[in-house]
Amino acid sequence: MDFELTKMQRMFKKEVIRFAKKEIVPRVQEHEIKGEFDFESFRKMGDFGLLGLHFPEEFGGGAADVLTTVLAGEALGEAGVDGGLTLAYGAHSFLCADTIFCHGTDAHRKKYLPRLISGEWIGCMGLTEPDAGSDVASMKTNAARDGDHYVLNGSKIFITNGPIADVILVYAKTNPEQQHEGISAFIVEKGTKGFSPGAPLKKMGVKTSQTSELFFNNCRIPADNLVGQEGMGFFYAMQTVEWDRSALMAPFVGGMTYAMRQSAAYATKRIQFNRPISHFQATKYKIADMKIFTEAARSLIYRIAWCKDQGQPVNHLEAAVAKLFVGDWSLGPVNDAMLIHGGYGYCHEYGMEMIFRDSRLAPIGGGTSDIQKKIISKLM
Ligand SMILES: Cc1cc2nc3c(=O)[nH]c(=O)nc-3n(C[C@H](O)[C@H](O)[C@H](O)COP(=O)(O)OP(=O)(O)OC[C@H]3O[C@@H](n4cnc5c(N)ncnc54)[C@H](O)[C@@H]3O)c2cc1C
Repeated sequence: MDFELTKMQRMFKKEVIRFAKKEIVPRVQEHEIKGEFDFESFRKMGDFGLLGLHFPEEFGGGAADVLTTVLAGEALGEAGVDGGLTLAYGAHSFLCADTIFCHGTDAHRKKYLPRLISGEWIGCMGLTEPDAGSDVASMKTNAARDGDHYVLNGSKIFITNGPIADVILVYAKTNPEQQHEGISAFIVEKGTKGFSPGAPLKKMGVKTSQTSELFFNNCRIPADNLVGQEGMGFFYAMQTVEWDRSALMAPFVGGMTYAMRQSAAYATKRIQFNRPISHFQATKYKIADMKIFTEAARSLIYRIAWCKDQGQPVNHLEAAVAKLFVGDWSLGPVNDAMLIHGGYGYCHEYGMEMIFRDSRLAPIGGGTSDIQKKIISKLM
């Protein structure tokens, strides 16, 4: 395994950091305080090519490899972009658009991908339900075939981009008698009769991403909106786990690098007891712990990207280890970043409390830490 990034990859990462610092970061605080989605930054990400980095050029994508895509996400976090915007980007590009690309028809790809990649349309992915979270196979949302249509009934919850999505990739049971094998994937467009998103949920963090319920009430969609094969939906959803454990985690790892650098810089400037607080061993050890975390987390997510680039199936054990490590083990370092800033760390202006709040989603979204431990112990 070659641990060296190519010159192109290093340059590209720098370019994304430069873009994000100039175009997105100055707008973060305002949107975070208001809890509003930043449509303008999202469109700028589309113009820059970030929303479709790994898709083929014929759809407006950048044809980048997986590692480069991961580096772009990491760069956003490192530049100081909030976890809400990067979560919205992840749900849009990897959970929605990528599934349409991998399993949709040519007509689906031609219709949806160019608009999703440019940012003209926003995508979301609806899997979780009020009574089916970790146990997703027990979902109740139903898609009954009726001639040339499917009729969807049920609801979803905690859906990132739910209130603002134009394209909804939704999972529903085509065979309610079955568990995993009964689930299929569908595309529902905003404005379809019988579909309505709920109001944005008030959350602890990732505040600029809009999260809501989705309601399907005799929602009739053309049978052509089935993505892939009936009964394969669960397996398509599980494929997105590879992106979840690499590209979706990358901005978070980048955010931790940002927090570490800010903390180190702050510690050298903040004087207490006539010396910079960086002179105290308690501060030094906190910075060292942050470095250890970011290095290990980065290696784990790069490894998954590398496997994907080699065309190797991502090992479920490694994916679960990466998810658990990044989610659970970040609590100490992200708390330390806040503590190094003292009272300022608790205030909005320095951004540390936002990173702390945003980071608390990592052990929950996309599979909780308990579920990762369940997978790890089972596979061992
Ligand atoms: C901000 C946010 C954004 C999200 N975005 C999306 C999205 O875009 N699309 C989407 O479909 N979903 C999304 N989710 C949903 C997310 O994936 C689920 O919240 C997550 O999978 C956990 O499901 P749950 O909330 O129902 O918790 P539950 O499954 O009810 O779990 C509750 C507790 O029980 C524990 N537990 C459950 N089963 C077991 C077990 N077998 N062994 C040990 N412990 C167990 C869990 O670890 C947890 O501590 C989002 C959630 C949030 C908060």
